[in-house]
Amino acid sequence: MCGIVGYIGKKEALPVLLAGLKRLEYRGYDSAGVAVIGEKVQLAKSPGRIFKLEKVLEGKNFSGNVGIAHTRWATHGKPTKANAHPHIGCNDDFLIAHNGIIENYLELKSELLGKGHKFRSQTDSEVFAHLLEEEFKHYHNFEASFKSAISKIRGAYGIIAISKKDKEKILIAKKSSPIVIGVGKNEHIIASDLSAVIGYTKDVIHLSDDEIAVCESDGVRISNLKNEAVGKKARKVEYSLEEAEKGNFETFMKKEIFESPEVIKNAIRGRLLEEEGTAKFGGLEEAGERLKNVKRVMIVACGTSYYAGLLAKYWFSDLTHLHTDVEIASEFKTGNIDIESSDLVIAISQSGETADTLGAVREAKKRGALTMGIVNVVGSAISQETDIGIYNHAGPEISVASTKAFISQATVLALLTIFFARQKNMSLKEGKDLMREISGLYAKVGQVLGQQKTIQEIAEKYAKYKNFIFLGRKYNFPIALEGALKLKEVSYIHAEGYAGGELKHGPLAMIDKNFPVFCISTKGSVYDKMLSNMEEIKSRGGKVICVATAGDKKLENIADDVVYVPRSSEMLSPILAVVVTQLFAYFLARVLKRDIDKPRNLAKSVTVE
Ligand code: GLU
Repeated sequence: MCGIVGYIGKKEALPVLLAGLKRLEYRGYDSAGVAVIGEKVQLAKSPGRIFKLEKVLEGKNFSGNVGIAHTRWATHGKPTKANAHPHIGCNDDFLIAHNGIIENYLELKSELLGKGHKFRSQTDSEVFAHLLEEEFKHYHNFEASFKSAISKIRGAYGIIAISKKDKEKILIAKKSSPIVIGVGKNEHIIASDLSAVIGYTKDVIHLSDDEIAVCESDGVRISNLKNEAVGKKARKVEYSLEEAEKGNFETFMKKEIFESPEVIKNAIRGRLLEEEGTAKFGGLEEAGERLKNVKRVMIVACGTSYYAGLLAKYWFSDLTHLHTDVEIASEFKTGNIDIESSDLVIAISQSGETADTLGAVREAKKRGALTMGIVNVVGSAISQETDIGIYNHAGPEISVASTKAFISQATVLALLTIFFARQKNMSLKEGKDLMREISGLYAKVGQVLGQQKTIQEIAEKYAKYKNFIFLGRKYNFPIALEGALKLKEVSYIHAEGYAGGELKHGPLAMIDKNFPVFCISTKGSVYDKMLSNMEEIKSRGGKVICVATAGDKKLENIADDVVYVPRSSEMLSPILAVVVTQLFAYFLARVLKRDIDKPRNLAKSVTVE
């Protein structure tokens, strides 16, 4: 994530850049920076939000008609001033802002260090500024140097560059990170998304992967990596600003559910060691041997993150043989839970600011345990206070009801399970098989999203009911709990999650024709038992909606409605099933005309206890 803005035209660049950054702040906000070329190069950066950058700019004269700006969502290097973009090389001939990850940056950096380059930041992005300098020594031409430098980097990027060697242009390249170019009258505004552009113009070019654009005030030239011209014309967009941020989606919740495949890719990028059948996490290396010697794991979290933790408890217990408990953070922090210095406490929180979870981390530290954070927001309190950590890289989650963060947490926890299990007794073959499956998971989630019409029809059919039970066993029990929570949050309908085995111990008493049960009955070791549960419900006149594995026609004879998910290992089936429950809750709330992104009485990032 992160937001990039560029301006070239007749106006003063700075106000346009700052206004654009503010519109993109939702994409990342741990530091920001701006560079303008006028008489000379002017560069300002600040850790923290954009208003802090504005403070730094107070009283400074940043006059000029060409500039670039960036609001960062750190992947490599802490959210400090030095790591903020735009970056320069050894001198300020070239200024660049980058969104994404340059995967071969270490290789490039060591070559550049060998050639005498001096680095100022810990980012992967800075290598590109030095690379440009190096290429310029050869080509003596900004455009040619940029194209050559782009051909040397691997990974994901939206890159934007300006140079005092050639002040009249902005160069842009894109691969897997969004870039749009707004075409105005003798001006261009470049940005990570439309929201920063359409206040100025509705004529927009969407740059595609592997395209390079040269923007001057009166024209844009686009070419591919082979340097062939690409004839692309601007298209009119009809969005309002608010709509632009949501893209084509009605709500952030739906947008975020549909970001899941991307979120999975971001969670695993750079972390899979497929040949070794395991995962690597840069943020755990500091703990060294201490992590290997952990005797017991305690996961602490709240709400949806708690259910991700519960899922991990099943995975850890099954596959790593590490004794694992999961505890609601607010309960853990009461201090009544037994914890020792040989324990690992894992705190899961999307925002990294959840007060209860932060309280639990502090309690765990007091008791001398090793603490690990799994958080989405870089630089957040939990990421700073834990000893080691893993970032989700899921991008900002705006909808109050969490969806993509859960998918990301589950993906990271699946990798972590394999990481621990391979240190214990998981075989290389099993590790490799699971890693292969995880790397294809995003496509399966994509197939589940492709079922949205079916899920919508089912949700609409059931919107009149006042109560629901969600039922699952083993790995899908946490999904039953999460499915019920999601429905409560966004539709305000009463729903309860139960383990299938519990049905007969009480809840079955409530079942009648007015009480539908949502069963997660994918193939696996508890499949037959879920089938029995479904029969029990049907024989008491209840209605059954079920999530089943593709090809399992048997369930159609029992359930009233079935949604199919692709085949997968039992371990990863919850990540597919949960998407169905999210869409079901979403569509049901939509029929009821709820304020889906901002459910009543709730708020994002719960920083109160
Ligand atoms: N990888 C770069 C960094 O950590 C860019 C991150 C972003 O997209 O904001 O600075």
